[in-house]
Amino acid sequence: MVVTRFAPSPTGFLHIGGARTALFSWLYARANGGKYLLRVEDTDLERSTQAAVDAILDGLNWLGLTPDEPPVFQSIQADRHRQVAEELVTRGAAYHCPVTPAELQARRDEAEALRTKKAADGGLSDEDAQRLDELLKPYRSPWRDGRPLPDGAATVVRLRMPDEGSLTVNDRVQGPVTLRYAELDDLILLRSDGTPTYMLAVVVDDHDMGVTHVIRGDDHLTNTFRQTPIFQAMGWDAPVYAHVPMIHGPDGKKLSKRHGALGVDAYRDMGYLPEALCNYLLRLGWSHGDDEIISQEQAIEWFNLEALNKAPARLDFDKLNAVNAHYMAQADSDRLSDLYFAREEAQGLSETERSRIRAAMDVLKTRAGTVAALHDASRFLHEIRPIRLEGKAAKLLSEEGKQRVRDLVSRFGEVTDWSDAILKQVLTRYCEEMGIGIGKVGPLLRAALTGGAPAPDISIVLELLGREESLSRLSDQLN
Ligand code: GLU
Repeated sequence: MVVTRFAPSPTGFLHIGGARTALFSWLYARANGGKYLLRVEDTDLERSTQAAVDAILDGLNWLGLTPDEPPVFQSIQADRHRQVAEELVTRGAAYHCPVTPAELQARRDEAEALRTKKAADGGLSDEDAQRLDELLKPYRSPWRDGRPLPDGAATVVRLRMPDEGSLTVNDRVQGPVTLRYAELDDLILLRSDGTPTYMLAVVVDDHDMGVTHVIRGDDHLTNTFRQTPIFQAMGWDAPVYAHVPMIHGPDGKKLSKRHGALGVDAYRDMGYLPEALCNYLLRLGWSHGDDEIISQEQAIEWFNLEALNKAPARLDFDKLNAVNAHYMAQADSDRLSDLYFAREEAQGLSETERSRIRAAMDVLKTRAGTVAALHDASRFLHEIRPIRLEGKAAKLLSEEGKQRVRDLVSRFGEVTDWSDAILKQVLTRYCEEMGIGIGKVGPLLRAALTGGAPAPDISIVLELLGREESLSRLSDQLN
């Protein structure tokens, strides 16, 4: 069975890059009748916070990417990680190493000094050059081949990288990638205080959770070369890897805050719908022909690793807005009303305004691109009487303009079936009888009814405001 996982480090919010990784992992599991798991990689106790864990879980819930099983917290598995490290030592695939951080630092300092010397003197003696080469090579401890340890020395456990040969990872996005073992450090698995390193923990957990497919950002591609030898040394099958290119800003540069490298909660606050964000994130790195609007059902049917893009995707707010507008228009009107009423800017709305907005939502949702934009789109439904007209709008209310409003108030006053279609007929008939174009009354009515707030067609505005409110707003202008 296919088992995927999303493995965020809880050091901040659920970033949209992470959300996309989670989405791909979720979809791949759904597409293959598999399982999608969540692992909270909280081994960095200093940087991990409960607030970040909550923000991540909340973000995933909002997007509908809740894991199929309760989350695994990596820090709780530390004993198991230690046990595997010791098992690797027993197997001869790892070793205890007493070299201290200070000694390692001394090596780095020596290398730095030689580099400085090289730059200053324009070269090095053969002996120094050889020494620098040696120091710059991936680390191989003198204790890797069984040299007896000094008594009582604190040790770290290091993986013993194979002496020769190379490792090829058949990445499902990047294709085959090969690295010689000589280019890889004898990496640390357990620190001298006994805490497991991230590299060890990931491997053990992926194995123990039965993960078959790892979909993650391509910033982790190099880690694969450190992780695969651990799987091999334990005789475990390594998962299939798919390293997805990063999301870039519209200018092709690394995504920054300015570009929208925000938490998904920020997208929620901006008024995007979760299904729209999922659709957009799916297209941002995966494609199915030229399809832009892809429902969740279609995504589950179509999703595969082959169509993941090899090139970095660019975040494009215009596209996101277009996708969101599509989902807004399709969304259930009551749901949208509830989402809007829960927002801060809707807190001052009266009961009357709320019920007008709720009743108007079928129209409003086709005009507002986001839940946040519903505020502006529904402003004409607020209790704004008496509407004070200024400038150009006030000029429309000339004597002639007032006469037309008076005429229309009396004609609308006779309408019993207060509907868009009938009101439109009344308006058209009036214009025909007066021998004037609709342009002579449209702007006038619009100003008197909305005070210039964004609004749909006049006959629709009349219907949405209702008979009493419409006639009152118009009559106000006659005083
Ligand atoms: N915890 C890592 C991160 O947040 C992900 C590790 C992985 O997916 O293997 O970048």
